[in-house]
Amino acid sequence: MKTALVCGGGGFIGAHLVTRLKREGFWVRAVDLKYPEFAPTAADDFIIADLRDRQEARDAIDRPFTEIYQLAADMGGAGFIFTGENDADIMHNSASINLNVLEACRRRNAKRIFYSSSACIYPEHNQLDPDTPVTRESSAYPANPDSEYGWEKLFSERLYLAYSRNHGIEARIARYHNIFGPEGTWTGGREKAPAALCRKVAQAQDGGVIDIWGDGKQTRSFLYIDECVEGTLRLMRSDFLGPVNIGSDEMVTLNDLAGMVIEIAGKRLTIEHVKGPLGVRGRNSDNVLIKDKLGWAPSEPLRRGLAKTYPWIAEQVKRHAAGSR
Ligand code: NAD
Repeated sequence: MKTALVCGGGGFIGAHLVTRLKREGFWVRAVDLKYPEFAPTAADDFIIADLRDRQEARDAIDRPFTEIYQLAADMGGAGFIFTGENDADIMHNSASINLNVLEACRRRNAKRIFYSSSACIYPEHNQLDPDTPVTRESSAYPANPDSEYGWEKLFSERLYLAYSRNHGIEARIARYHNIFGPEGTWTGGREKAPAALCRKVAQAQDGGVIDIWGDGKQTRSFLYIDECVEGTLRLMRSDFLGPVNIGSDEMVTLNDLAGMVIEIAGKRLTIEHVKGPLGVRGRNSDNVLIKDKLGWAPSEPLRRGLAKTYPWIAEQVKRHAAGSR
């Protein structure tokens, strides 16, 4: 029987990945500090463990697995990553997880491991113009990420490449670009822009106002969760090491994104621009390499993913409001 290990299987992407692997007939073990927040896990075996602890990582990786996915990280949206207040924790926690997981894999003679890096590794100076951001994979160096989260991801990419080179564990490295969808964090400060905007729109009264951080002209692209999982599996099972972007190349401004959500909700709302942590000015996924290496790239329109995500967040907002009454 094919077996898989998903580190971070209690998180947003990890939980969806577990579900997909189960559908494909895998026996799946997930490891995380916590169970998935919004739906029961599909994993056969769910271990609550802290992968910053070397022994706990070893215990979780106690046998050979057909596929190992490493998605555990201390992460969050702009409200968590860009304030500076969490930098030491982000770097220490995520680097410890990656060091421990790789070392445990080496001891078990693991053959291949997937690692989720991020678009946040790209140099800030290539993302100052919102209309023409550069995220070609080779543009990562000379390095200049705009957050410690990005620096840790870059360090860990190199760690996976070094273990590949020296210890024969084939790495498969993806740089995810803004993944969104149902069952993702939608409140509390770690949520990303699509979820935050869906929440604000769902909470607003018709005719009311929602706020956006900055002038709303900053650009991004957003990838729907199902395509993220599809790209992850395709990369894992390919003969390409990466790093490669897994993201959408449908670049929109934050104002466009808010407009789409408002339209899907069918409300009349005004946008107000307020101060807030922003991140880079522009970012989009460059999909030339993924098309070349995998013969595939994400293609679902943003609007379609938002139309599946908004109702789920609106439902959470409703339940939350009912619960706090
Ligand atoms: P998430 O926060 O929902 O999932 C990460 C999981 O890791 C969480 O469930 C968390 O509890 C777990 N974790 C944290 N510290 C741990 C520890 N010490 N031991 C065990 N588990 C621990 O995030 P996500 O959106 O599912 O992202 C998954 C991966 O993809 C992360 O590595 C993230 O950096 C990367 N990524 C995500 C995005 C995105 O848009 N979601 C973009 C780029 C990269």
